[in-house]
Amino acid sequence: MPNSRILIVGGGVVGLCTAYYARQRGHPVTVVERGAPEDECCSFGNAGFIVPSHCVPLAAPGMVAKGLRMMLNPESPFYLRLRWDRDLWRWSWLFYRAANAAHVAACAPLLRDLHLASRRLFDELADLTGNEFGLTPSGLLVLCRSAPGLREERETAELVRKLGLQVEVLTPEEAKRLEPNFQMNIAGAVYYPQDGHLVPERFMATLRRLAADRGVQLSFSTEVAGWRVDHHRVIAAQTNHGDISADEFVIAGGSWSARLAGQLGLRLPLQAGKGYHLTLPRAKTKPTRSVLLAEARVAVTPMGQRLRFAGTMEIGGLDLSLNPRRIHGMLKSIGQYLPEFGPDDFREGQRWCGLRPCSPDGLPYVGRFARYANLAVAAGHAMMGLSLGPITGQLMAQVLSGETPAIALERLNPDRYG
Ligand SMILES: Cc1cc2nc3c(=O)[nH]c(=O)nc-3n(C[C@H](O)[C@H](O)[C@H](O)COP(=O)(O)OP(=O)(O)OC[C@H]3O[C@@H](n4cnc5c(N)ncnc54)[C@H](O)[C@@H]3O)c2cc1C
Repeated sequence: MPNSRILIVGGGVVGLCTAYYARQRGHPVTVVERGAPEDECCSFGNAGFIVPSHCVPLAAPGMVAKGLRMMLNPESPFYLRLRWDRDLWRWSWLFYRAANAAHVAACAPLLRDLHLASRRLFDELADLTGNEFGLTPSGLLVLCRSAPGLREERETAELVRKLGLQVEVLTPEEAKRLEPNFQMNIAGAVYYPQDGHLVPERFMATLRRLAADRGVQLSFSTEVAGWRVDHHRVIAAQTNHGDISADEFVIAGGSWSARLAGQLGLRLPLQAGKGYHLTLPRAKTKPTRSVLLAEARVAVTPMGQRLRFAGTMEIGGLDLSLNPRRIHGMLKSIGQYLPEFGPDDFREGQRWCGLRPCSPDGLPYVGRFARYANLAVAAGHAMMGLSLGPITGQLMAQVLSGETPAIALERLNPDRYG
């Protein structure tokens, strides 16, 4: 087992972290990535938040009603494109069933443990590399524009505090003291000092370099289109460059993981949640820490000279087209919190979108499938894939090496929906 050959499908943050930690344990590892080296999947363009505070799963009480209300507004932060797709209807039903207080109570401690363990691994990686990816442990400031928004964020903060994490509820004046050079039009804020941020493109470059330096084989422009199977074992992945055999196979294909599992007759409920970023190359003003515009669900991240605004969740299939209405919705909301920013400021700068892999219960799938002895998956991290990337990689490496995972994986079982 220590020297079993591992093939990982997908070179996003989850696939690369798995490769890095599996290689550390002595396995020969190959990563196949459909895209070219310069392509930027979801793991590159995200907001860069490292967020132990995000331990409340997306499937939480009130989320269904909120989602339905938002769907009536085409510029709202959430949008579900209705279509006749059995997988979408099943996913929605499973989400509805999971969105309750008992589910949150059961999952939040697990998400906290995963985030805190991942946070420690980010520190280790920063020490190892001279922090070449800009890890900034200066906390997350959640800005609320309205009294109901502040009430809701306070409730979340209370839950997070009960889980033992640090939280401060701030008046507008106290928030101003934290960010004296950044104008904010708010009713109040919540501050999570244990959170932080980094520059995701630089983190991905670091992971590629660390993996390659240690002997991981990275094959770009290599797409897995099918599998060769013998009884209950996968023998090879069929790619555009021929079959690649291995002893262990890991699906880490982000939003495409359901399709990859489906080719083996496995059901993995997963929907792509499209999000956008607008990145200003040189913003006229910047916060010193990461900021979340609460009601608008827009993340604001200082990245060196650049300032990134990221948001929206559009459940609309595997579609990577930019929808101008959603960008317009984001731009409108930014100015309501941050009066120094108007639509004119965003005429230049990068516009990008990526697909978050969303499971219906807000928990990723991490572990082996029962049907195939040598097939595992690491996917479905939704809006937390960067933050949970290192711990997911480490847990996968433990599973692949026959070790007991440091954090129990029962709730992340990929067969939990049969
Ligand atoms: C706007 C936005 C903001 C976000 N902000 C944050 C944040 O602040 N913090 C956070 O933690 N998370 C954030 N996320 C979520 C995070 O980016 C994702 O959860 C994470 O990137 C998922 O990583 P992944 O490796 O699972 O998938 P991906 O990054 O999508 O990588 C999967 C890879 O698999 C490849 N692939 C798929 N199919 C095949 C195949 N058949 N053969 C070969 N290769 C294949 C794809 O090309 C892709 O490169 C954000 C996401 C978005 C869209």
